[in-house]
Amino acid sequence: MTKSSVLGYPRIGEDREWKKALEAFWSGKLEEAEFQARLQEIRLNHLRKQQEKGIDLIPVNDFSYYDHILDTAAMFGIIPKRFSYEGGAVPLSVYYGVARGTKGAAASEMTKWFNTNYHYIVPELTDASPVLTENKPLAAYREAKEKLGIEGKPVIVGPLTFLKLSKGYSASETDTWLERLVPLYVQVLQELAEEGVQWVQIDEPILVTKLSQDDLQRLTKIYETIAAAVPSLNIMLQTYFESVENYTDIVKLPVKGIGLDFVHGYKGNLVAIKTLGFPADKVLGAGVIDGRGIWKASLREKLELLTALTKLVTPDRLIVQSSCSLLHVPVTTARETKLTSELKNALAFADEKLGELVLLTKALASSSESDIDEIIKSEAAIQALQQSEERNRVNIQQAVAALNNQQPERSHPFAERHQAQQAKWQLPIFPTTTIGSFPQSAEVRKARQSWRKGEWNNEQYAQYIRDQIDTWVDLQEEIGLDVLVHGEFERTDMVEFFGEKLAGFAFTQNGWVQSYGSRCVKPPVIFGDVAFTGEMTVEETKYAQSKTSRPVKGMLTGPITIMNWSFVRDDIPREQIAYQLAYALRQEVEALEQAGIGMIQVDEPAVREGLPLKEEEQADYLAWAVKAFRITTCTVHETTQIHTHMCYCEFHDMIDSIEAMDADVISIETSRSHGELIHSFELNTYKLGIGLGVYDIHSPRVPSVEEMTGMIERALRVLDARLFWINPDCGLKTRGLEETVASLRNMVEATKIARENHAATV
Ligand code: GLN
Ligand code: ZN
Repeated sequence: MTKSSVLGYPRIGEDREWKKALEAFWSGKLEEAEFQARLQEIRLNHLRKQQEKGIDLIPVNDFSYYDHILDTAAMFGIIPKRFSYEGGAVPLSVYYGVARGTKGAAASEMTKWFNTNYHYIVPELTDASPVLTENKPLAAYREAKEKLGIEGKPVIVGPLTFLKLSKGYSASETDTWLERLVPLYVQVLQELAEEGVQWVQIDEPILVTKLSQDDLQRLTKIYETIAAAVPSLNIMLQTYFESVENYTDIVKLPVKGIGLDFVHGYKGNLVAIKTLGFPADKVLGAGVIDGRGIWKASLREKLELLTALTKLVTPDRLIVQSSCSLLHVPVTTARETKLTSELKNALAFADEKLGELVLLTKALASSSESDIDEIIKSEAAIQALQQSEERNRVNIQQAVAALNNQQPERSHPFAERHQAQQAKWQLPIFPTTTIGSFPQSAEVRKARQSWRKGEWNNEQYAQYIRDQIDTWVDLQEEIGLDVLVHGEFERTDMVEFFGEKLAGFAFTQNGWVQSYGSRCVKPPVIFGDVAFTGEMTVEETKYAQSKTSRPVKGMLTGPITIMNWSFVRDDIPREQIAYQLAYALRQEVEALEQAGIGMIQVDEPAVREGLPLKEEEQADYLAWAVKAFRITTCTVHETTQIHTHMCYCEFHDMIDSIEAMDADVISIETSRSHGELIHSFELNTYKLGIGLGVYDIHSPRVPSVEEMTGMIERALRVLDARLFWINPDCGLKTRGLEETVASLRNMVEATKIARENHAATV
């Protein structure tokens, strides 16, 4: 009969015990043996939960000591030379060295796992000679069987995806690399087959991206080789995060099952399977429960979908699955005690999703009365939230609907604004500024805690913040910066701060998800219509401005960044959520302007992160992201200068969209992709104000004047000197006081030199 399965379970534990164990081990507080024991306990506990809930095919080897891509590299002995690894099973010290760096060797690069907020360690293939160092999936399978009697489903990242995500080889070496890797995969799989493993899940999420004809042929060859070597093993070729490209080729591959995402790839995959059919001899892994969203599924709709699928594949060839690994959602709603019941009842984190999967699987065969009760209850919970006041703010909905039909535009084109702003501010050439935050010392964090705990009253805390502002306004003047900031001392996090002040947001107590390694984040939940409820940043900004005659930039987080770093409701399109946020933030922009703040920065570091995987959908996303930014910023006077800031990503391929945002000035991170970003300005002329970060803020090192002069001169070769600003790469929140002041002094020094060198030409 139909079976249930998940593609992976969160590693971090209900109480983030995984994170705590890792960090204790790193800091030497936990011996390796004790650490191993603790991790095993966590791992078994997760398996036990799935077993108790009644999941039929439970994944093993989805657990990790840090990251599953790093695990795969380590399994094949692919360790960069600088870590002096000597072969055999990779010791933990080496494994964590690659992930986090050691005294003598920089960590491997880390990058975004497809379009999620999870980051993996990029394997470096340069000089590597892969061998099988240990069969990790086999060990995981044995453990589950021996300890819990579970017939586990080992999960492995597939060869094509692994290779595509790796670096340190050229395109012409692709086949050579596959010839090295595939035999190792075969070896792993043969050992699994010998052990009596039934199902193996091979993850090939790369199949949702566009592949070349060559890659498609490689794909076929890989799976033919594997099928020939282990004909008895049931392989579930698993895809996720989108619909597959090349459906016809993929379903022809010689594997037992094909796993498709019917949530994030719903449309494409459903059309494909309905029009092109599904091979009668294969099993369909139907990913119907959202592995990335936090909401309860409409079980009625899911049951309809599954029933429709049973017209195309027989029920015994259907597996009811999560759309992707549950790694991307928090563990359980059970520990949330502060959410309204309306909200809490509509949420489903990993454990609740297990329940949904089991229920759907049972109900598909035949619904018992209690199943029907469950389904009705769950629908009612979704309905209740749907009908809540928060989701029905008619005034917001109307205001945003009215925006839909407008092209948000500043009253004057940039050239005129630029003149008016110059006349008003009289800034020197190459104005200097910073990105917003100044060091959040232990003292600042302590002050906030005292206030949160109630040991300090509001006034005490406000006074403390004002003192910080005083100190930093003086410092900025003394350093000689032209455009000042208040320093963001009142903010812990640039999204949370605004979420706490806007309506439509909720905060969980325990909704943590892994971002990278032991780092977990607790994204806000946008569950209702977003509304402005009062000024959020005016007081501090106004205060800072009252202390100086130089302009102080107001500082807001942009709509797209707030959205991309939150869990969002799934009953309205993301585009509409972005416009609601934009509409709310616009009111803050207007309030700042009213209060006499003449420069306002709206940060959008996360714009690029939301880019859809499908190329054909990217233009549309960028268009509405740009529109949301413009809605936020378009109503101010021509003399009010709008700034924006971007970082974390490479932006060289989206300069057009950045320009379309029409910000008077952008400050953009440059150090991570130097060459490429500057090169892209050789190809496009950028016509608005721009500051390319002249130093990397991710390290405590104080850059020299010469280094920054070099950066400035390089940028000036391709950018208009009259529009050029000088600033660091990003906010200085994580830096120390001394290095910050020293670096900024050098930056101002480098600016003076640049002004002398270029005075004649501007
Ligand atoms: N204004 C923010 C700061 O300086 C920007 C942070 C960011 O870009 N991530 O901290
Ligand atoms: Zn930044």
